[in-house]
Amino acid sequence: MPVLDCIFCRIVAGDIPALLVLDAPDALAFLDVGPLAPGHCLLIPKTHYESVLDIPAERIAGLTRHLPVLARAVMESVDATGLNVLQNTGAASGQAVFHLHFHLIPRIDGDRLGYRWNAGAYDAGEGERIQAAVRGALGRQ
Ligand code: AMP
Ligand code: ZN
Repeated sequence: MPVLDCIFCRIVAGDIPALLVLDAPDALAFLDVGPLAPGHCLLIPKTHYESVLDIPAERIAGLTRHLPVLARAVMESVDATGLNVLQNTGAASGQAVFHLHFHLIPRIDGDRLGYRWNAGAYDAGEGERIQAAVRGALGRQ
């Protein structure tokens, strides 16, 4: 079901314009209106899911099968030598539009866009504790 106040559902419905680059039965890709680099695209499912947390596995498989061909086309179109694929889930991650989307951000050597986040390190035993927690949680999914 489309969500009335969802900007990406409105793009799927054709209610607001977007520069579409891919229109498949299950997916749409279009240029991001605020590009981090020329060619920055968003790949979305036509059906409204908020994030990777609520989309069924087979649906996200259907969506992500478009990634290789779209990545190659986007890179070729702007002569990129690299690409960041980014997916934000939840406000804490920076997600602003709560309709699942993958960012494809073309990169060129020396483009100065940057990327590095501040990496941490585990205390003694902490990694193993988190490993056990994740494995336990996986068993309950
Ligand atoms: P995120 O922070 O991962 O939720 O990213 C949302 C992205 O959607 C941002 O990069 C916005 O520039 C982009 N965006 C928002 N509205 C539109 C729109 N109408 N058409 C294209 N891109 C949009
Ligand atoms: Zn939506």
